[in-house]
Amino acid sequence: MWLKLSAPEKREASGLEIDSKLPNTGTTIFTVMSALANKHGAINLSQGFPDYNPPSELLEAACSALSEGHNQYAPMAGLIDLRLQVGALTKLRHHYDADPETEITIVPGATEAIFCAIQACVNHGEEVIVFDPAYDCYEPSVTLAGGKTIHLPLQLPNFHIDWQQLADSITPATRMIIINSPHNPTGSVLNQQDLERLADIVRDTRIIILSDEVYEYLVYDGQVHHSVLSHAELRERSYAIFSFGKTLHATGWKTGYCIAPPALSRELRKIHQYVCFVAVTPIQRGLADYLAHHWGQLNLLSGFYQQKRDLFCQGLNQSRFKLIPSAGTYFQLADYGEISDMGDLKFSRWLTTEVGVAAIPLSPFYAEKNNNTLVRFCFAKQDATLQEALIKLCQI
Ligand code: PMP
Ligand code: GLN
Repeated sequence: MWLKLSAPEKREASGLEIDSKLPNTGTTIFTVMSALANKHGAINLSQGFPDYNPPSELLEAACSALSEGHNQYAPMAGLIDLRLQVGALTKLRHHYDADPETEITIVPGATEAIFCAIQACVNHGEEVIVFDPAYDCYEPSVTLAGGKTIHLPLQLPNFHIDWQQLADSITPATRMIIINSPHNPTGSVLNQQDLERLADIVRDTRIIILSDEVYEYLVYDGQVHHSVLSHAELRERSYAIFSFGKTLHATGWKTGYCIAPPALSRELRKIHQYVCFVAVTPIQRGLADYLAHHWGQLNLLSGFYQQKRDLFCQGLNQSRFKLIPSAGTYFQLADYGEISDMGDLKFSRWLTTEVGVAAIPLSPFYAEKNNNTLVRFCFAKQDATLQEALIKLCQI
């Protein structure tokens, strides 16, 4: 007599059962919270994306690129015209003349470049240091490369790096340090002194820096962004990664770039060419044409977003939330400790379903369980959207 197998047993018996390479990874919190916001018709201040369009000149440039026939594969490293524009911008902003042929790679989103850079450098058993709360895509990429992620906590009250703790955490197995400034989710930024400390720590080691600078234009209160590219020593060992999604209100275009020395870029491209081969051609063409004429517009971003941050913070100051100052990005942390003793996942769900405003809980950004009562709001929204959300948040 045949014994009936359960569905999981059948899969196992058939040999189709997958031994997951990411057993502890679920669906990203951004996907989960946006879906919840949509389901309940909540104002979505969770996942980071604007509720307004890219500049009209950029939309026109991309439409022209489509209709004028820029619809076939671009060169693997990206359209040369876009790489030239990126090179010119980099020289202007970071005083570094990156070679478009060997150092600049156009990628289908910063996420892909982060993945490729990690796969290129990290070997089995090597360590990668990240700072918690950390953006979600770093650790899975390290795990897939066979590496080990070492989590160091950013220090309260302003989420800065404890450089001594970093120095003490370096081992012979340390292969990479990932920094992210301006920082998602806390809004903290690194200054020149921070870069000097980092350079001191990695000097005479084989450590590579992955510098996630996707929010480079979004720094406030008269500060400037300090890129690893502006530091002669650090840039020799760094992948600096950027995203047009943030700078041009076009997160759905998934286009960015990576700047790294030739030897590092060569290895990144070996992976990039087999993950996706190239970024999307008409989008690259549109970006190149837009930047050629309108690159100056990027300098307005900081003022544009500072006004939104201030509007949101002034409103939220009338609520029972306590604000953690945000020096950069389009995110604002808020402490709900005086409102509720729920855990942050539960509180964020409640806020979405009962109050009608979606936010991102902070615990998914931490490896260790912690009891903070913080949520992240995205203020890259029309003023009217922010005002509508503030009315709801102030009623709690
Ligand atoms: N790094 C950080 C810190 C981010 O917040 C994001 C997300 N938007 C990315 C990387 C990924 O950017 P992209 O959408 O260009 O892949
Ligand atoms: N970076 C965006 C955020 O932090 C989300 C991007 C994504 O959903 N993967 O909200």
